[in-house]
Amino acid sequence: MDFAFNNTFHDEMEGFYAPAEAAKPSAPKLLAFNHGLAQRLGIDDADVDEGQLAQLFSGLALPAGADPLALAYAGHQFGHFSPQLGDGRALLLGEIVAPDGARFDIQLKGSGPTAFSRNGDGKAAIGPVLREFLVSEAMAAMGIPTTRALAAVATGDRVQRERAHPGAVLTRVASSHIRVGTFQFFAAHFGADHVVQLADYSIRRHFPDLAEADNPSLALLDRVVGLQCELIANWLGVGFIHGVMNTDNVAISGETIDYGPCAFMDRFSVNTVFSSIDENGRYAYGRQPQVLHWNMARFAEALLPAIHRVSPADVDAAKALVDAIPNRFRAVWHARVREKLGLLVHDDDDSELIDSLFDDLEEYDVDFTSFFRALAMLLRGDGALFESLLPAPDAMAPWIADWWERIAREPTGPLEHAAAMDAVNPLYIPRNHLVEAALVAAEAGDLAPWLELLEVVRHPYIIRPGFERFAEPAAADAGPYKTFCGT
Ligand code: AMP
Ligand code: MG
Repeated sequence: MDFAFNNTFHDEMEGFYAPAEAAKPSAPKLLAFNHGLAQRLGIDDADVDEGQLAQLFSGLALPAGADPLALAYAGHQFGHFSPQLGDGRALLLGEIVAPDGARFDIQLKGSGPTAFSRNGDGKAAIGPVLREFLVSEAMAAMGIPTTRALAAVATGDRVQRERAHPGAVLTRVASSHIRVGTFQFFAAHFGADHVVQLADYSIRRHFPDLAEADNPSLALLDRVVGLQCELIANWLGVGFIHGVMNTDNVAISGETIDYGPCAFMDRFSVNTVFSSIDENGRYAYGRQPQVLHWNMARFAEALLPAIHRVSPADVDAAKALVDAIPNRFRAVWHARVREKLGLLVHDDDDSELIDSLFDDLEEYDVDFTSFFRALAMLLRGDGALFESLLPAPDAMAPWIADWWERIAREPTGPLEHAAAMDAVNPLYIPRNHLVEAALVAAEAGDLAPWLELLEVVRHPYIIRPGFERFAEPAAADAGPYKTFCGT
């Protein structure tokens, strides 16, 4: 298997990483390989058997041209600055350029300790590996920017967490692994020259159109803020809660990265938290826009020396840009909600309709994912699903009346709106009880439920007969769901 590596970070950014080596797994066995992604990347896997894939994607055999390294980064974790984090359980093998010219990092996650492991073992257990694989593929299928999963390989070794688990390695593909925390690391330890070097590299790699900007670092800030507003609006739109929105988990590419205790909300509540380590609800569903603002303020701080160097006056521009984030996010979010509601024409007066919608969803504990599909069914004259979601058939009658009236003002007919809604509102998401059941089975050696769920979430929008149970929320008596971080 030829990767045709072209490792710009390794070659151009010496001093920004530590060379690293993968630990040798004792008995690697392929759990899953993403042939569709391999094809998209231009990797030819035709002549490779499962044994070879298992060796390549577990760290046992190093592919030709790889320059394995661990990236340095810092990060604010739950509001507190950790000056040194870095890839403690991940290894960048190198970069490849896909047939369409897009550049991707190929990274092993869970492949053993690096210079940044501190007290960690650098390993990953099978549950979190398969969880990241599944959820990142679901996100990609919903059109949400995300890192991807190319392979999952069981190592044959045990990993000690609260108890011993089978170990595994995930091969993660990202348009890069540069994070807000990467900038913070070099701002904190090395100062302006390094920040400028990293900003220049990031612009060359991700946003070449910004190279000619009057102040490229300011333009970089603006671009990343825009991408993060889009990303968080996407998350909110599908009820996704990342769970650890620390600045080291914010990729400047705008991709969702670091799937740890993330989960999707069933019944709507802005205070929903699943992560066992998020005791104060810092990263609750409805707080994600505020955290986005806070994280972007930290990014701006890290960039300030680079921005200042070009023009001291631009420091004020950076501040104004950060101050404008709540309004900027709101505009993006409302556009997303309008889409979900089938409103194709922009109307500034929709804010009231949108705000009262979320008040109602919260009050009536409505299943968030089903609700938008039920609205489309209403437009088709079928109210059965809608009524099944509410405590009383007319619970949301005033809101529905307003929405109908708003739809009626659009130039297109109800059926067109229903079709547009079904194209953006997923029917199948990785619901917590399904993910949990699939992971429990996988850990016990039965991959079938995980493979079936993966197949379901890869096609989120089209109704498939026989798949009804995948669209349903957990039983009402299922109890609160908790996720754990121990990847
Ligand atoms: P995360 O919460 O997954 O974003 O990880 C935060 C930091 O902890 C990163 O620097 C990771 O590399 C590091 N880390 C997490 N788990 C381990 C582990 N098992 N071994 C070494 N480092 C780890
Ligand atoms: Mg992380």
